Amino acid sequence: MATEPLIAFCQSLFDDLDFAYARQWKAASRGRRVVGYMPFYVPRELIHAAGALPLGVLGGGDQLEVIQGDAYYQSYICRIPRSTIELALSGRLDFVDAMLFPSICDVIRNLSGMWKLMFPKVKSRYFDLPQNYRDDVGGAFYIEELHELKRMLEELKEGEIGAEEIRASIALYNENRRLVRAVYALRAKEPWKAPSAEVYLLMRAGMILPVEEHSRLLREYLEAAGAEDRPRRDNSRVVVVGAFCEQPPLNLIKSIELSGCYIVDDDFMLVNRWEKADVPEEGDPLYALALSYLHNSGDTSAKYEPDPEKKGLYLVEAVKRSGAEGVIMAMPSFCDPALLERPMLQAVLARHGIPYIAFKYAENSGQMQPIREQAGTFADSIKLWSEG
Ligand code: SF4
Repeated sequence: MATEPLIAFCQSLFDDLDFAYARQWKAASRGRRVVGYMPFYVPRELIHAAGALPLGVLGGGDQLEVIQGDAYYQSYICRIPRSTIELALSGRLDFVDAMLFPSICDVIRNLSGMWKLMFPKVKSRYFDLPQNYRDDVGGAFYIEELHELKRMLEELKEGEIGAEEIRASIALYNENRRLVRAVYALRAKEPWKAPSAEVYLLMRAGMILPVEEHSRLLREYLEAAGAEDRPRRDNSRVVVVGAFCEQPPLNLIKSIELSGCYIVDDDFMLVNRWEKADVPEEGDPLYALALSYLHNSGDTSAKYEPDPEKKGLYLVEAVKRSGAEGVIMAMPSFCDPALLERPMLQAVLARHGIPYIAFKYAENSGQMQPIREQAGTFADSIKLWSEG
């Protein structure tokens, strides 16, 4: 199969703000449940083990007109909570049985409270994540949090979730993460074979499809993209960072590439590859999930780094690992976690002699000309420096 029909399918999922695919999945069998979650991370293995569909809710993008959602928030915050409220008030999430709000920032915390008030019949949970990485402190806390989430999911399922079921789900998500990493590795090695807009749509499909379906899609894409002959351009190689929550418009990703940059790593939809290695498939599965979170997970501004010497080094490592020549900091307007960390990331990059640019966006940004100009100038300057 060629890449084109696979990406066309992903695009249809991406464009559908009514979530027809997830609705059909739920309607196909009695007793099926759907659990929505906000960025950037929740343990989807537990949701899957409860027989439910984990559904990533990533805001309304640039196709949704926010009318009612604006009334719930002041104007000087990011757009994703407002468009998420709009999705809910307009009935687009009326099939979702429970919502999880991971502890990423105050905005998401407040949104979880609002959800409880606005939709009292829908189960919702502010899902707290540890900011202490000692097994006996953050680990003990997180295992208890996982137990509470499990209890909530058992109520939803109206039955127990067995350890064997969780271990089976962990194995499926391990396989999925290996495939996601393979797609990222292909793009880092031969970015002309896996354009970023395609990789983005593939990863977005993982927010809707059951994990088994998503893994099949990734396998087919890897085979098709590896076999296709596409023209190689003399683009600069960049890492895009800062877009771990509110997503940039697809046109922004396309504009970066059209302006002469190959995106060779990014932090879009981190939940797809949050664990950097397989979660153990033996032993106590909640313990395995908790320890993987503490000791083997990715980094982002929304995760506390206790050692000031290590602050931002993950970005330097991402640059080295992917063979990038520069960094584009693309962060949502008014995003506290991303924008408060930006000066520290810039200092680390400057210390390591890595060029960067920074700009802000909203999920509904429409004007791409300034982005194209900035990214194009950045790509040219990288070429000039590296040749000097
Ligand atoms: S975009 Fe930033 S500020 Fe807004 S909800 Fe996400 S993490 Fe919080």
